[in-house]
Amino acid sequence: MGAQINTDYSKVQQNYLFSTIAKKVSEFQVANPGKEIFRLGIGDTTQPLGQTVVKAMQDAAARLGDVKTYTGYGAEQGNLPLRQALANQYTSRGVELTADEIFVGDGAKTDSANIQSIFGLDNIVAVSDPAYPVYVDTNVISGRTGSAGKDGRFDGLIYMPCNSDNNFMPELPSRKADLIYLCSPNNPTGAVMSRERLGQFVDYARENKAVIFFDAAYAAFISDPDLPKSIYEIDGAKECAIELNSFSKSHGFTGVRLGWTVVPQKLVAVDALSEIGFTTPGQINGLWKRRQTTFFNGASNVVQAGGLAGLTEEGMKESRELVSFYMENARIIREGLSQTGLKIYGGTDAPFLWMKTPGGVDSWSFFDRLLNETRVVGTPGAGFGQAGEGYFRLSAFGHRDKTIAAVESIKANLKL
Ligand code: PLP
Repeated sequence: MGAQINTDYSKVQQNYLFSTIAKKVSEFQVANPGKEIFRLGIGDTTQPLGQTVVKAMQDAAARLGDVKTYTGYGAEQGNLPLRQALANQYTSRGVELTADEIFVGDGAKTDSANIQSIFGLDNIVAVSDPAYPVYVDTNVISGRTGSAGKDGRFDGLIYMPCNSDNNFMPELPSRKADLIYLCSPNNPTGAVMSRERLGQFVDYARENKAVIFFDAAYAAFISDPDLPKSIYEIDGAKECAIELNSFSKSHGFTGVRLGWTVVPQKLVAVDALSEIGFTTPGQINGLWKRRQTTFFNGASNVVQAGGLAGLTEEGMKESRELVSFYMENARIIREGLSQTGLKIYGGTDAPFLWMKTPGGVDSWSFFDRLLNETRVVGTPGAGFGQAGEGYFRLSAFGHRDKTIAAVESIKANLKL
């Protein structure tokens, strides 16, 4: 036998959601030349970096151009002042973390994809439905699931449906789960987990010796002071949770690339090789360090300098302005569309809005109607999982004028 490919790739959907959307949009454009399209679809950012960050990256690049200040590979877990500055941010929320619990990487996608690799293949995985597709696909590709059924759900995965009945907040897994993915504020629903519900998950994880992967990539968009921005605001979470976060949306780094992952020293899980049956404190932190130092050589030093500047007082002021800009877009979409009678969720503490498709139409048919009748592009909820069927995601990351134009076009042209 020759080299064999990883056949688990054949189980994941071949057409990535956004490629299908791009194809439909380009077909529409060919059929309707010269007609402007309003994009409220992909969650990419549109507004420029803050000047503090730009200046810091220019200075860092200049330092690399001088033999006296040139530096090569950086510290294993990331630049220490950057990790310390990140730890200090948590302190302001009452969470004490040390710099050695923080790992700097090139974004939350990479780490949310790779984090499963330090856990065994026999773990039972639970995901919210709908969910950011990376959580499901990486577990399928790694061999933790069977094939997808007709409903698109994979054998062996536990799905935690999120719908209007539970305010789009996942409920505890229906059977015993070992690895649990949570995302709050949520992509795609725009829902934020309450302190109480997150507490229930932390209690569940501790009782069942499960580990939670908490994706907080949109934490900066929370304005309600009662909503948790970090899972570590919940007592006991350091023993059972890994948190992922990113500069992508808070600082406009989607193209620059910078994120971080917290692996607390206190985190414990089952270790079949240990006499006590469990890992010792620090062991999982060490596993992630081993994984990162083996497969990764650190985020760019220029970018880390930008990130550090982004956490200074001036940098955070610019970040808050950026977040406010997008949240004003969210308000414009939410209020504008609610006036038409459309049912809109999310968009108050998250940059995503989750719309119930009118008349119970399926979400891909609604995509076609919205494009044809209003020239607005959104994202069909079904693309994020079975429970997303009948819903539609709109993003607040657009330019202001286009966002207003999209809302006006829906108000004027959508036949409800
Ligand atoms: N996690 C969620 C829930 C996201 O929606 C995204 C990006 O859209 C990411 C992670 C990836 O972020 P990054 O740009 O840091 O890789």
